[in-house]
Amino acid sequence: MTDIVDYLIVGQGLAGSILAETIAERNKTFMLVDNGSLKNSSRVAGGLYNPITGRKMVKTWLCDHIFDKIENFYPAFDQKYNIKSFISIPLYFPFDSQEKQTDWIAASADEKYNSYVKGFVKEGLYNEFIDGTFGGMEVHRSGYLDIPVFLDAFKAQNGKNIIEEEFDFNAIEHKDGYIKYKDTKAKHIIFAEGNKVENNPYFTALDFRPVKGELLLIKFEKARFQHIVNRNGFILPIDDQGTCKLGATYERVEEMESPTPKGKRQLLEKVEPLVNDKFEILEHWSGIRPATFDRRPFIGTHEKYKNIHIFNGLGAKGVSLGPYFSELLLDSIENGKELPYEVRLNRLSKQQRIEQNSK
Ligand SMILES: Cc1cc2nc3c(=O)[nH]c(=O)nc-3n(C[C@H](O)[C@H](O)[C@H](O)COP(=O)(O)OP(=O)(O)OC[C@H]3O[C@@H](n4cnc5c(N)ncnc54)[C@H](O)[C@@H]3O)c2cc1C
Repeated sequence: MTDIVDYLIVGQGLAGSILAETIAERNKTFMLVDNGSLKNSSRVAGGLYNPITGRKMVKTWLCDHIFDKIENFYPAFDQKYNIKSFISIPLYFPFDSQEKQTDWIAASADEKYNSYVKGFVKEGLYNEFIDGTFGGMEVHRSGYLDIPVFLDAFKAQNGKNIIEEEFDFNAIEHKDGYIKYKDTKAKHIIFAEGNKVENNPYFTALDFRPVKGELLLIKFEKARFQHIVNRNGFILPIDDQGTCKLGATYERVEEMESPTPKGKRQLLEKVEPLVNDKFEILEHWSGIRPATFDRRPFIGTHEKYKNIHIFNGLGAKGVSLGPYFSELLLDSIENGKELPYEVRLNRLSKQQRIEQNSK
């Protein structure tokens, strides 16, 4: 059995790379197949991780679990690969109404926010550029992952374990106790192909709903932010020269995969009323998030083939969900530990559950 690897992973995006790293941490072996596409979701993403999300600004799903995990996983990765991909930057939410301010001062007093909310800033920050009438809130334990740096480092050091080609589903042979794919024998295959899961014959029943996103790279004339400024979108400073990523849009995927004038307009509508400074647009790009019908990932094992698994649907939160759920998937494969209902492949929608309960 020595020539059999433990895992064959399809896809070296963020999901596949995090998974492979977690497998290696467990002293297991892996091979990866990736077609080398530079247009994957991971390479265009903003890479933000943020404990307080959504319009209502609440703690993100599984916040305490996933934040403890990412704060261990990525720094250890950076140290091992001798890179700096995990960049911690505080967040600043400037309030746009008295109501928001009042709600937030009340909510942030709850101890569940203690380790994330730094405090209310009555007079606001960056007053030269941002209206401070209603003040704002500072959040820590936030930042971004420079995903291309992360992926390139992983690829450079694990090249001998990466087969660069389009995965050929017809080449899978189901053997007794293992799977053969061309010259590779593996105990398990894990599919992590992001949006290209649409071509995967093993998981056709899963209800993926990809979501398009657009981003701008801009350069402010004078404003120099040391926070990610977040209101109805984000302004992420990536250097001290005023260069920022501005994101992101959320659109259902239609035919148009490339950046559009509409997307650009939506992004400008986020920054222009917020920041009183001139800026130039340096780049405009787009990508497709691998999202699902209920915005929860699809993680688990094929109903019939017990050594075929999927790690996908990380949606808009690949950076924060990836490390936690790669552990859970491996625990489920190796130790039979049950995965949470919310990510299981056979979960029902809210509506389906209501219908089932009313029968
Ligand atoms: C505009 C935008 C902004 C975003 N911003 C953020 C953000 O701020 N924070 C955050 O956490 N997330 C963000 N995301 C989401 C994030 O990008 C995803 O959650 C994550 O990158 C998904 O990674 P993945 O590995 O599942 O998919 P992918 O990145 O698509 O990777 C899949 C890999 O599989 C390969 N592949 C697929 N099919 C095959 C095949 N048949 N054979 C061989 N190789 C194959 C592909 O080439 C690719 O390398 C954003 C996404 C977009 C589009």
